[in-house]
Amino acid sequence: MTEQDANVPGGIDVTRPSVARMYDYYLGGKDNFEIDREAVGRVEKAMPEVRQLALENRAFLRRAVRHMARQGVRQFIDIGSGLPTVGNTHEIAQEIIPDARVVYVDNDPVVLQHGRALLATDDNTTVAAADMRRPSEVLEHPQTVKIIDFNEPVGILMIAMVHFLTMEERGAVMSQLRDSLPSGSHLTMTHVTRDGHSADAVAAIETVYAATPTPIYFREHAEVARFFEGFELVPPGLVTIDAWHPDPDDLAPEATRWLYGGVGRKP
Ligand code: SAH
Repeated sequence: MTEQDANVPGGIDVTRPSVARMYDYYLGGKDNFEIDREAVGRVEKAMPEVRQLALENRAFLRRAVRHMARQGVRQFIDIGSGLPTVGNTHEIAQEIIPDARVVYVDNDPVVLQHGRALLATDDNTTVAAADMRRPSEVLEHPQTVKIIDFNEPVGILMIAMVHFLTMEERGAVMSQLRDSLPSGSHLTMTHVTRDGHSADAVAAIETVYAATPTPIYFREHAEVARFFEGFELVPPGLVTIDAWHPDPDDLAPEATRWLYGGVGRKP
């Protein structure tokens, strides 16, 4: 897309990079503007392996959704789902549970527009416009209520999402989500880390995202672990995503180790 494109629908802010469109560009998608590609260029200077990171993240999502489905989770809320890509949550879950239900939640107008066309493909999948910072918008959205039965285990996905929350926001957001879920529900997250990386690179990337509506926070292991409070991490716990049940088919040449990921089960 270009800014001159007569089809740029209303509500799309092309004056600031959008994290959804930047992520689309990392994955080789076409739903991004020059301003997003410039921001990605700055990220790539500090983190040349960012495209590999995005692929690692999608591979983790695939393994985690399969894990949850095999534990009997039949319904999922994918918060901050991003633009439709290869291997969306419902496609993965439905390989194991053919009638698995998925609500895709995002607050980016481009994601919502494409999502409605490409993700809400049957009665078991739907798209909801909501802000993760206000969990009741997610939980009480008519599309959520239509598809999700909160008396049965739910799988919550917040993949490459919670690093957009401040630690102050974390407490209220995560406890409201946790309290809405029945026992046996699962929470799957990935989060960028500064552990093992250069402070200059981290600062440069945080600066790029500070110019978007979604500043990003690179955190250390103990801080990321706090997002799972109230959940029991399934083995191997909170680890760099390459080390979470690696699948030989996914193995990248060398793991980037920029993301921690884990799956927690609500007791
Ligand atoms: N979960 C996907 C996409 C990650 S990109 C994956 O891991 O592949 C982050 C997504 O979160 C973007 O689509 C962005 O629009 C969305 N997002 C960011 N802040 C949000 C918020 N406060 N509420 C809802 N969605 C948000």
